[in-house]
Amino acid sequence: MSKSVLLLPGDGIGPEIVAEAEKVLHKVNEQFDLGLVFDSAHVGGAAIDATGVPLPDDTLDKARKADAILLGAVGGPKWDGLEMAIRPEKGLLGLRSNLELFGNLRPAILYPQLASASSLKPEVVSGLDILIVRELTGGIYFGQPRGVRELEGGERQGYNTYVYSESEIRRIGRVAFEAAQQRNKKLCSVDKANVLEVTVLWREIMEELSKDYPDVELSHMYVDNAAMQLVRAPKQFDVIVTGNMFGDILSDEAAMLTGSIGMLPSASLNSDKQGMYEPCHGSAPDIAGQGIANPLATILSAAMMLRYSLQAEDAAQAIEAAVSKVLDQGLRTADIMSDDGRKVTTREMGEAVLAAL
Ligand code: NAD
Repeated sequence: MSKSVLLLPGDGIGPEIVAEAEKVLHKVNEQFDLGLVFDSAHVGGAAIDATGVPLPDDTLDKARKADAILLGAVGGPKWDGLEMAIRPEKGLLGLRSNLELFGNLRPAILYPQLASASSLKPEVVSGLDILIVRELTGGIYFGQPRGVRELEGGERQGYNTYVYSESEIRRIGRVAFEAAQQRNKKLCSVDKANVLEVTVLWREIMEELSKDYPDVELSHMYVDNAAMQLVRAPKQFDVIVTGNMFGDILSDEAAMLTGSIGMLPSASLNSDKQGMYEPCHGSAPDIAGQGIANPLATILSAAMMLRYSLQAEDAAQAIEAAVSKVLDQGLRTADIMSDDGRKVTTREMGEAVLAAL
């Protein structure tokens, strides 16, 4: 039976890096006889230019029908002056909320070949392999009421609402426990239960859930300590689970432990395991159009897509092995360049992965 993949290149470097991932997907589709069929659509700034809105109905419709989605990135200075409701980022948030992509998986893996790219000492980070599971459709980024209001006397006050229901906590908790079961069976739940009632409930539910996963060792950590521990001794972690805002911040911090954001993939899943896969970085307008962006995070996102949504583990592993091989060969885009590396363009990196396959 065929499976459908929707490609959403987006803005900035998005089209350049998605083009390379698309070639890789076509190659494994043939090699492993996966029966993938591809379609594409506009999202973000590209959609605003084409239709006036960041998430056109046609794109949302195709996204709903697809088995999996590969996204480049959205946004850029061209659209920064638009009002909040029609900014490119709304396209992304709209996809996440319409498809209920509540489970964001962000691995932070340090390839041994790139140990010198990290700003931390090699002994602190070499062999690092963490998975951050971030709740993506709830918490303070979506809570109502929100806004800026005028108080008596004319002073303005900004406000947001931090809210999680039991069921929202439970479903992200299950994703995290199951991920831990497939890895080293250690799960650290990050909260701020000493200050925020929402996260007191979060901690209670995680404790309750742990009874269903006796093989997983559950621990808890306050977010401020987690931020410190990630730079002090990051290898103590296996899987981290946390809410939307803490996860946003900690996963970027973990990304930098690996040296380049250009290497890191991500997956956002719903309860049917339909998923949207994208690099952790943004649209990098500063280097867009120059052919120098690193396509590996997007190529590795395609590998995650094969693993989590398309049940093609062999193809996923083949891509990951090919990426490791091109790094062994010393090929480096500018963001991961080292003294002994050979500098390549976006396209040359994509071609090298194809050749390694
Ligand atoms: P960014 O991730 O786009 O760029 C940060 C830095 O990393 C830049 O110097 C950039 O050149 C570099 N970089 C990023 N990806 C790279 C790659 N693949 N290869 C080499 N270098 C890479 O973050 P930003 O500059 O804060 O944001 C730029 C735009 O992207 C903004 O409009 C922002 O809203 C948007 N954004 C989109 C997403 C998304 O689509 N998921 C995520 C974050 C930011």
